[in-house]
Amino acid sequence: MGHDQIEQRFTEALEQNRMHHAWLLFGMKGIGKRLLAERLAAYILCQTHTACGECHGCKMMVMGSHPDLFRVSLLESKRDLNIEQVRQLLSFLSLSGSESARRVVILDDAERLNNQAANALLKGLEEPSPGTLLLMVCSDMERLPATIRSRCMLQSCLPLPEKELSAVLDGMLSVEHSVADATKSLAMALADGCPGRVSCLQDANIAKALLTWQNLIAQLERADVGQVDNWIKQYVNLVPHTLIVQLLLEPVYKLLQKPRDQNSFSSASALHQAAHQCARWPADLLRSTLRPGPTLLASILTLRTAIKGCG
Ligand SMILES: [Zn+2]
Repeated sequence: MGHDQIEQRFTEALEQNRMHHAWLLFGMKGIGKRLLAERLAAYILCQTHTACGECHGCKMMVMGSHPDLFRVSLLESKRDLNIEQVRQLLSFLSLSGSESARRVVILDDAERLNNQAANALLKGLEEPSPGTLLLMVCSDMERLPATIRSRCMLQSCLPLPEKELSAVLDGMLSVEHSVADATKSLAMALADGCPGRVSCLQDANIAKALLTWQNLIAQLERADVGQVDNWIKQYVNLVPHTLIVQLLLEPVYKLLQKPRDQNSFSSASALHQAAHQCARWPADLLRSTLRPGPTLLASILTLRTAIKGCG
């Protein structure tokens, strides 16, 4: 959903029999690049080349048992994609297709290829076997060697426009719970066009926790610190940190955009600093052994003081 143009380019190339052997789908995390790769693979492996979802080829794909499709992604608890995974991928591509005339590999998390693996893949890209297609998915192009990028057909995946985002979220958040409408609005606000960013809201506990959080900190200068502290203690390990901060800073960014006179310059600057400290809290946690709860509360208290100073 939302990537119709890429899908169209792909099917045209297929119809006109000028399919490039390596496509690179890139863009932000959470916009559906991997699902798009699955969809494109279905056009190749579908018996009628329409990704019909009904035929034997499509059904085997969905069940994960299509002999002409190989998926590679980052293994759990591993930091990178290693050379062994790339060797398997290349040997798969060098076999001739058993079900259809083509073989497809979906390589997810391509930005995590380590140096050795990237070099091995490069060789494969230089000498593609006929009838093979490599679909690479990448959410950080900076980390992918330019030599690999330059051998691929690049396709930029953009965040979804509001209408498509809304439709995807309707499907994604279809679980019935008492706060479904409020959750949808919250998801629309937090997603920034990337439905994957708010997939955690399918969990009703996380949705309810975030809605409570939104109310608690909507007017931080008047918020009950005891309640904020309790919320943090209860939920800081359940709710994704980036979403906690995103909700926290939304009203602050509005405040920062207000025009102000010379006298309030220092208070605005204090607010800026406090907001920055909150914004980098999730990344700081990843780099250190700080405890999330106390550090978040401390940053919020600084922010609260700074907001009052701007009052
Ligand atoms: Zn089909």
